[in-house]
Amino acid sequence: MTALAPGVALRQGFSADALAGAAKPAAAAGALAVTSQALLQVDGVSLEYRTSERVVRATHRVSFDLHAADRFVLLGPSGCGKSTLLKAIGGFMPPVEGEIRLAGERVEAPGPDRIAVFQEFDQLPPWKTVKQNIVFPLVASRALDRKQASERAMHYLDKVGLTPFADAYPHQLSGGMKQRVAIARALAMQPRVLLMDEPFAALDALTRRKMQEELLELWDEVRFTLLFVTHSIEEALVVGNRIALLSPHPGRMRAEINSHEFHLASLGSAAFQAAAQRIHRLLFEEEGHATP
Ligand code: ADP
Ligand code: MG
Repeated sequence: MTALAPGVALRQGFSADALAGAAKPAAAAGALAVTSQALLQVDGVSLEYRTSERVVRATHRVSFDLHAADRFVLLGPSGCGKSTLLKAIGGFMPPVEGEIRLAGERVEAPGPDRIAVFQEFDQLPPWKTVKQNIVFPLVASRALDRKQASERAMHYLDKVGLTPFADAYPHQLSGGMKQRVAIARALAMQPRVLLMDEPFAALDALTRRKMQEELLELWDEVRFTLLFVTHSIEEALVVGNRIALLSPHPGRMRAEINSHEFHLASLGSAAFQAAAQRIHRLLFEEEGHATP
């Protein structure tokens, strides 16, 4: 595992990491024409909440690049601005500094090319069946007609193993099943980037592990581009191929870690534990002491 340059060095797509990314071959094909440009560029982004009394800076000059088929993880303690970054990438919050670009275009509004899955089990309208939950955004966004939407919904329901539950209502499902529906619904939109904000954090430990495994299997099949937020070091190592470490409030890039070598099967191995400890040090040691 090699630590790459800290955030300050990750600029304009000319960093060593971006160059390495540009050389990524097959995985990128299909999702994006072969190009040296990153799919998603977060470039010096500062985000703030402003009320009449005060300004809360949530992130400070955060930079990273996502390439097609990346499983990129934002890892940092609670309150470091991870959700706020996803909000901004989703187009719901403009940066006060810096820029976010998707395929070279500045992100200024929400769009079906960026779909998010959240932690909460209540993200599915309860009056719609599982299938209707997936069909609805496909039709509403005018991506597909009803018949096509229905076929696509069943395709992704099959991918998450929920075909028998197509006509069930969300309240009839377990938390894990609801999250599977939310994932199927998001993937059915075929976004350019799938955003996941601690999607498994409310699940019990065993279900969480199972969901991580399934997510990785899905990625193997579909090769979507994933931006995954977590505060769990272990989850970051398992899910991600690259991990951005964010310092506590306001979130700044501490380092970027290459984690493609770790899988669920590496849990508990000496290399895995050493990586986890190193990340812990990078996250929590004072700046200047956090030597890679
Ligand atoms: P994380 O997802 O990493 O836990 P958040 O992005 O939710 O962190 O929050 C980052 C910072 O912004 C925190 O200090 C939080 O208190 C603050 N914050 C989040 N949402 C709001 C809001 N709506 N108004 C004001 N401050 C907020
Ligand atoms: Mg959050």
